Amino acid sequence: MDWKTRLLHSATAAPGGFRSLATPVWRGSTVVFESLADAHEHWQAETAGYAYGLFGTPTVLELAARIAELEGARHTFLTPSGMAAIALVYLSCCKAGDHVLLPWTAYGPNHALKGHLGRLGIEVETYDPMLGGKISERIRGNTSLIWAESPGSITMEIQDVPAIVAAAHAQGVPVALDNTYAAGVLFDAFAAGVDISIQALTKYAGGHSDVLMGSVSVRDETWLQRVGSTRHMFGMGVSPDDASLVLRGLQTLALRLERFGQSALKLAQWVKRQPGVRHVLHPALADCRGHDIWKRDFRGSASLFSVVFVPSVSAGQVREFADALQWFAAGYSWGGTRSLLMTYPGRRDLVERYGGQVLRLNIGLEDSDDLIADLAGAWPRLGV
Ligand SMILES: *Cc1c(COP(=O)(O)O)cnc(C)c1O
Repeated sequence: MDWKTRLLHSATAAPGGFRSLATPVWRGSTVVFESLADAHEHWQAETAGYAYGLFGTPTVLELAARIAELEGARHTFLTPSGMAAIALVYLSCCKAGDHVLLPWTAYGPNHALKGHLGRLGIEVETYDPMLGGKISERIRGNTSLIWAESPGSITMEIQDVPAIVAAAHAQGVPVALDNTYAAGVLFDAFAAGVDISIQALTKYAGGHSDVLMGSVSVRDETWLQRVGSTRHMFGMGVSPDDASLVLRGLQTLALRLERFGQSALKLAQWVKRQPGVRHVLHPALADCRGHDIWKRDFRGSASLFSVVFVPSVSAGQVREFADALQWFAAGYSWGGTRSLLMTYPGRRDLVERYGGQVLRLNIGLEDSDDLIADLAGAWPRLGV
């Protein structure tokens, strides 16, 4: 055999017997079969075994299985981002002529999809997140999907998901939940009856602001087939290197969530006592919309809360305050180790609904007293 052939077909290999605690990173596009007959038989559904790298290597499928186990799902599919998970739900549930209900508190880019879905003949209508079972009055003959997101992005309303599910199922409509805030563990989506639970694993599961990924977890075999076949045909695979980062993140998820929960609540309570604050939107505070439902349905709270300032505080003053902070960086996304903040100048509706400028804080793993000192030092910039 010529050395050039040997480069590709060497019989040598590393010695066996290596036992590591870490899941190996299996890369691969082509999967080879025992024989052609074997290849033809394997070319079936994603769950029928390894057929092509797009459908998952062992690293990817291990992560998917772990998310499914945590959420109590029949199966979990991984997607290149949380946004891709949202798109996959629409593609799996809706066709031209359908109607979708989305709470106005849902993740902004989910709302922004409306235009694209409109081009495909799918109408998205917003609803009040606090409707609960009264959502039944909004369901039409062509409603093919109801989204829930609890707490709401930015404004933290807790939805009565079991009541929404009961009303939806009574009319044969599936419910999909964006369960990113709960990391799939602080709220039990499938016990609440949802059909599909999605997460931006980018946030808490990844946990270190260095990877983008989403998950779509399904309740039963019917959804497994529908979401699985849609995902295949739209080519939504994930990289095993990224999956290994999320597998690493999962190992410390419990510790990070516990610390986030404690620190964020401590900061929220401190902020509530400061001058110029109209509301603090945090599900564990008694005046948060849906707080009683949070107490009934959630295992805890996480790293996010928002501050609504009194009307005299201007957007410019909030910007000056934010820019004076040392430990809070301005950035989209959240759920990593570092504290972040964001304001939403494009969302005039927030000022109208809440009566003041809204600032969202994501509390990281920094010492909570250092964070409080940082906020206290910049507070005079608010002019209150
Ligand atoms: C960030 C986020 C997403 C989207 O996740 P990406 O991975 O950034 O695309 C979806 N839903 C919620 C609630 C989010 O916060």
